Amino acid sequence: MAALGDIQVTVLKGVGHALAGTLAKLGIHSLQDLLFHLPHRYEDRTRIIPMGSLRVGDVGVVEGEVVKNDVVMGRRRSMQVTLRDDSGFLVLRFFHFNAAQKGQLAIGTRVRCYGEVRAGRAGYELYHPEYEANPEPMAAAGSATLTPVYPLTEGIQQPRVRSLCRQALSYLQRYPIRELLPPEMLADYQLPDISAAVALVHAPPASANVPQLLAGKHPAQQRLVMEELLAHQLSLLKVRQQIQQRQALALLPQGALVAQFLDNLPFSLTAAQKHVLADIRQDLSQPLPMLRLVQGDVGSGKTVVAALAALQAISGGGQVALMAPTEILAEQHYNSFRQWLEPLGIRTAWLSGKVKGRARTEALDQVASGDAVIAIGTHALFQQDVAFHRLALVIVDEQQRFGVHQRLALREKGVSGTLAPHQLIMTATPIPRTLAMSAYADLDTSVIDELPPGRKPIETIAVPDGRREDIIDRVRKACEQGRQAYWVCTLIEESEALQCQAAEVTAQDLQERLPGLRIGLVHGRLKAAEKAEVMTAFKTGELDLLVATTVIEVGVDVPNASLIIIENPERLGLAQLHQLRGRVGRGHEASFCVLMYHPPLSQNGKARLQVLRDSQDGFVIAEKDLEIRGPGEVLGTRQTGLMQFRLAEFERDKGWIEVVRELAPAVLADSGRTEGLIRRWLGERIQYGDV
Ligand code: ADP
Ligand code: MG
Repeated sequence: MAALGDIQVTVLKGVGHALAGTLAKLGIHSLQDLLFHLPHRYEDRTRIIPMGSLRVGDVGVVEGEVVKNDVVMGRRRSMQVTLRDDSGFLVLRFFHFNAAQKGQLAIGTRVRCYGEVRAGRAGYELYHPEYEANPEPMAAAGSATLTPVYPLTEGIQQPRVRSLCRQALSYLQRYPIRELLPPEMLADYQLPDISAAVALVHAPPASANVPQLLAGKHPAQQRLVMEELLAHQLSLLKVRQQIQQRQALALLPQGALVAQFLDNLPFSLTAAQKHVLADIRQDLSQPLPMLRLVQGDVGSGKTVVAALAALQAISGGGQVALMAPTEILAEQHYNSFRQWLEPLGIRTAWLSGKVKGRARTEALDQVASGDAVIAIGTHALFQQDVAFHRLALVIVDEQQRFGVHQRLALREKGVSGTLAPHQLIMTATPIPRTLAMSAYADLDTSVIDELPPGRKPIETIAVPDGRREDIIDRVRKACEQGRQAYWVCTLIEESEALQCQAAEVTAQDLQERLPGLRIGLVHGRLKAAEKAEVMTAFKTGELDLLVATTVIEVGVDVPNASLIIIENPERLGLAQLHQLRGRVGRGHEASFCVLMYHPPLSQNGKARLQVLRDSQDGFVIAEKDLEIRGPGEVLGTRQTGLMQFRLAEFERDKGWIEVVRELAPAVLADSGRTEGLIRRWLGERIQYGDV
């Protein structure tokens, strides 16, 4: 028997070559693909809402009699039509209209319309609602159903998708969708079977619970949500499984090198660092590739943990690659590692995108021959022409800045034959637990949950930019006392050029007002050598004030800096602000962070800055960020690839995440189900699954 997945959409009426092409852009080829193109919301046209009960933001159907129809002037000319029902009034406003419409909506006409309520000039208004004059009576109460709304792409309209899905549904009887969830799972959670769930979601019967459907909580929807979350979980677990089918070098720690390293450190490790290192040491000594995520809040001391992991790999005879997301951070790591490891006779190579010509050839040779046992750089490390001699450990710092695809792709490097490198992934973005469970299902996790001793809390204040003069004065005083400060210029991310320009102007302006201070400037458009020079000067105390763009957001470590001014913090996410603020508070001095906002702040803007003032705990801040802005933003925009669900919504559905995590291993053991689920839900997006 043919399956729904084998029947092409071209069997449907009205689907020719052109429309099939458009559907293909949505990843829809077969009838099954079409039926998994699920409505992401519903319109409730099942009942007429009394005007007197409307609130701003309500979307729905109202019906009444036209009692006034005027063309009014104002900022824009518009037609203003007042409707009345038994409970109140409502205004329809049209900025574009013609004489025929004015005639249609003449006083005394009955009108039914559908739209969103806004607070307008004349009270509650609908702008350009869909409307019908002298409508047929509504279907008897109880017989109408919700109208599904589908995601669209260019070249296809809502009614078209609705009609195609309705046609496809008629095939369901003869060609049911394959049930991929084990029967006991359905029974345990009282979930409807797949064909029933899909049918219901596309065409809810009149008897279905409307509020539940509108809230996405109907059992049919929840069944699909859970299946989708399970499919995502499985895709990551499968990646993990594939990697762990390979072997890795078992790297046994060599006490002598480590002892020497620790002796040279000016501090001793925190208990949390030791704890995490024990996890890593254990993993590395196995002949199975490590897949470990280390989460540690800003300033918790991840770099030294990375260095110790590297040391174990090197003493076990392997090479190490350390990748950082920015040139500035990569260079800083290069300097730290050289300082730490050269005394132990360990050679480090530097490979960033900006290293060119002979320097690059030399570095490549050293890495290829194994003379350099550590290679540090940006993603340039993983370009084609970089060959390692015996890569045993890959470390990725500030992982949240890389895409999921990059993370998964880099696993290819260093794979030779059946050997794969160990992987240590570090992130400072504290990710709420449920989110981590779904986004990093392929990784084991360790948390550095403690800051080094002696850190003073960073005092954070929010100040309107009208008080710029006072702030400048504060910077002057701090620097005169031998402190160092950052001044961060933010602009909307899309224009790096503008961001750099703003930083240049600010630096000039500050230099004019603060002639006594030594001011440096760093932004993304400087040459690598220039950036490095400025950063070194700041680090060694030759500069008092560093004006910067958000290029310093991650990783930069200058413990003497104790004041940071962030302009327009309202433009940034909480996690990003927390990262930026983490540039200070790294030494023993009391530190300050000034959030210099541009008034007026929105309610939401106020709430967000307040979160930052109240807390310095990255996890607390991330939870709030998750509440306010959703998972894509928390993971970093480039991380969203794996979190783009069709139906699941992180906040609403997070209850499933733990369930799915528990159930996934059993399903994974059944490769038929696993393949089917992944293909069904992730389809063409899952090429990296072949890693
Ligand atoms: P992260 O990368 O986690 O934000 P870093 O590795 O840059 O943090 O470390 C922050 C600062 O704390 C650095 O100056 C580092 O030398 C210092 N540091 C790290 N571990 C300790 C420790 N156990 N005790 C004291 N200082 C430490
Ligand atoms: Mg760091």
